[in-house]
Amino acid sequence: MKKVLSVLLVLGLVFTLAACAPASTTTSDSAADGSLDAVVEAGVLRVGVKEDVPNFGLKNTATGEIEGFEIDIVKLLAKEILGDENAYELTPVTAKTRGPLLDNGEVDLIIATFTITEDRKLTYNFSTPYYEDAVGLLVKKEAGFTGLADMDGKVIGVAQSATSKEAVNKVAAEKGITVSFSEYATYPEIKAALDSGRVDAFCVDGSILGGYVDDSTMILPDRFSPQEYGVTSKLDNIALTEAVDGYISGWLADGTIEELITKWGLNY
Ligand code: GLU
Repeated sequence: MKKVLSVLLVLGLVFTLAACAPASTTTSDSAADGSLDAVVEAGVLRVGVKEDVPNFGLKNTATGEIEGFEIDIVKLLAKEILGDENAYELTPVTAKTRGPLLDNGEVDLIIATFTITEDRKLTYNFSTPYYEDAVGLLVKKEAGFTGLADMDGKVIGVAQSATSKEAVNKVAAEKGITVSFSEYATYPEIKAALDSGRVDAFCVDGSILGGYVDDSTMILPDRFSPQEYGVTSKLDNIALTEAVDGYISGWLADGTIEELITKWGLNY
């Protein structure tokens, strides 16, 4: 009897403690929605961006600052969410690192040429698209390629975790050509492979290729597989996702995004 009583006493204590605990630590809903609060509390918006994509997110070697269209979007968001356009922290990402950085909470958002796909929507939230690009091919001028059709039997260099391989496979099937792939973790590695002849073409979005074209290479005129870029957040960050989407939609409607596209000369 004594034992039963003490068990009941302990249970009672547990329930009382649970009832007294702050709501945010006991309801999963508010925890899921808490990220916007967390950003406001921290006073800083942490964003993963590209640092090697001209006019989108590119490191200015003179100042060490990353600049571009996507960084301007970061500033606008920081101003709306925190009242200060400088209240942000940038983390350079690649196609391979951006998902994991978001997963482990090191960044609140990714604004880094992240293409919206049905598959990715199962893992992340994407805002309304703020830009549309298309996939292209960078080749050596001396190779004499003029278009995608010349890629039959060739080796294409693509980045891991990028949409490029699937995009090429689809268009190759449509054109009745066969290609093979070499996959790399980073874009500089693909460029090095192109320079040394290990791949015949470097394939990714035109905006990204723009950072790697030089005197000995050229971007082929063929563009395929539209790539819509969205601001990316964790699937359970409902409040942050909805706030960001509201701002992006507003800036698409009132011409702010269009102004930035003109400012950065984005006309791919
Ligand atoms: N935009 C494409 C993607 O999301 C290319 C990769 C990249 O953004 O680096 O897969």
